[in-house]
Amino acid sequence: MDQKSINNKKVARLKTEISELQEQLDQRKEELSEIQKGCEHSFRETNVIRECYKCGYAESMYY
Ligand SMILES: [Zn+2]
Repeated sequence: MDQKSINNKKVARLKTEISELQEQLDQRKEELSEIQKGCEHSFRETNVIRECYKCGYAESMYY
């Protein structure tokens, strides 16, 4: 097998893995946002953001 076809196989595998991981990432984000939606936030504030210490939801202090 020459280098080119080895690379092609590798690229195809990586692309598959990336799209699988992307899907998992989307699921995790969805899961996280469900938790954050149901949370009664308790914010701790810094100069730039405020962040809920229960669910990690953060928003910028700049609007
Ligand atoms: Zn929260």
